[in-house]
Amino acid sequence: MRICVLGAGYVGLVTGTCLAESGNDVVMVEIDRAKVEKLSRGETTIYEPGLEELLKRNLVEKRLSFTTDLAEGIRHGLFIFIAVGTPPGDNGKADLSAFFTVVDGIGSTMDGYKIIIDKSTVPVGTADEVKQRLSELTTHPFDVVSNPEFLKEGSAIDDFMHPDRIIIGCDYERATAFLKELYAPFVQTENPIFVMDPRSAEMTKYAANAMLAARISFMNEIANLCERMNADVDDVRRAIGADRRIGQPFLFPGVGFGGSCFPKDIAALEAMGDENDVPMEIVAAVRSVNHRQRDMFVRKVFDHFGKDLEGRSFAVWGLAFKPRTDDMREAPAVTIIESLLNAGATIRAHDPEATETARAVFGDRIEYCTINYDCLDDADALLVITEWNEFRHPDFEKMKSLLKSPVVFDGRNIYRRSNMKQMGFTYYAMGRPAVVPDPSTATASS
Ligand code: NAD
Repeated sequence: MRICVLGAGYVGLVTGTCLAESGNDVVMVEIDRAKVEKLSRGETTIYEPGLEELLKRNLVEKRLSFTTDLAEGIRHGLFIFIAVGTPPGDNGKADLSAFFTVVDGIGSTMDGYKIIIDKSTVPVGTADEVKQRLSELTTHPFDVVSNPEFLKEGSAIDDFMHPDRIIIGCDYERATAFLKELYAPFVQTENPIFVMDPRSAEMTKYAANAMLAARISFMNEIANLCERMNADVDDVRRAIGADRRIGQPFLFPGVGFGGSCFPKDIAALEAMGDENDVPMEIVAAVRSVNHRQRDMFVRKVFDHFGKDLEGRSFAVWGLAFKPRTDDMREAPAVTIIESLLNAGATIRAHDPEATETARAVFGDRIEYCTINYDCLDDADALLVITEWNEFRHPDFEKMKSLLKSPVVFDGRNIYRRSNMKQMGFTYYAMGRPAVVPDPSTATASS
């Protein structure tokens, strides 16, 4: 089938590449010329496991190409996927400027029947607005579909190839039938396709993200109380997750969620509620708990070292908003590092994939280390902010020998308290009692 994807970011690039991999003929339109050149050479512009191999294969086999020319893409595709960014705008509302730029572009260049499929996350009612706008711009027939994307960065290819479900928000049988055929290779294991009206599809995306974010904030709130009351949230988490009505996923306490989706989508949901006179009180609490969580982590550093960090140096492991991505949008590491820099600290950081992204955020205000142990050299403490697998079983003896004092702030609860205690670390985690060695045996913290 002939497909055009507008926007070659995380969602667009994964969508276009996976659709090409299933035999479709895909043209991707991207406004950023440098990205188009890089992708056309088979070099990925984002870190996403498995993506580069698929990109290269589909370029070589000529099922996938990249252009900056919108008209070329629109003429090519029967299916036009919109996957441009919808970042937070004024008062938390989604900024739809890039989205409507491409909608207007479609309307003024389409040359026959097109199925316009919205993959970007957009407020409820946007598909209706797209229909209205297109009908003012063209006399050619079209159908508009809301088809929200649920991929997770870090496992995006697998999520696209084996989705839990596919949502088709469409009022037209013709377009629904085309979409079902297009997605048939991805639902061979009988994962459901839900067909509904576009407004419900648009709401499904926001509701799903808000529910997941709520689980995280709920657990963070419980963690904070556990910490005060000397309980261990990890035991609590495992025990409540064993209840099948609750389940284990998304119950991990830590420094809070980040990324390009949860923060902006819950802000947009709150804004939709305000506009419609339905205060989204739970969603508002999810957001504020999440913000507070980053401060809670920084406060642990202040409680240990004092608020003046002049002359202190910290090692940071993990900068991306989560493992297996280089994405730092709304990453907790940004807020945490800024707070420490403001207090006078110097930072040496390591992330397996996000160093280049971090350079765009911090420039030369922090130092970047290719090897994680290099950050530790003479540092006052280690801060673990992103739970990359490679940080889970480090050489603790080596860490101790490199750090000025054996102090670890674990923002993701990846280490065992008993091990840290046995090895003589001062160890602060989230929602678990701190491990503070007996002063008579501990290495002095300067
Ligand atoms: P992104 O910023 O990574 O990618 C957007 C791309 O669109 C960029 O490459 C940008 O240059 C390009 N673009 C902007 N204007 C354009 C135009 N006029 N013509 C062509 N290209 C243009 O964003 P993303 O993370 O891929 O997110 C895209 C949408 O998908 C958002 O609405 C987001 O909320 C949603 N979403 C994202 C994820 C995720 O994990 N990142 C998951 C589900 C849904």
